Amino acid sequence: MSSAWFGPCPHCNVSLSYLQGVSGSKMNPQCPRCHTVIAVTRPTFVKADHSRLSLMKPTRPMPY
Ligand SMILES: [Zn+2]
Repeated sequence: MSSAWFGPCPHCNVSLSYLQGVSGSKMNPQCPRCHTVIAVTRPTFVKADHSRLSLMKPTRPMPY
């Protein structure tokens, strides 16, 4: 089973996606921005989470 969550890099605070159980998962993934190794308990693939950068700025409410 794969799972994913979102969080900031512990070093540079950039928004990241953490994906477990996908191809390319590593026990010592690196932040794509600052290249700090991120400690994980299970193989994880880390990538920049561009989709959430907009949450950092004021935006219109979503039309739900
Ligand atoms: Zn970083």
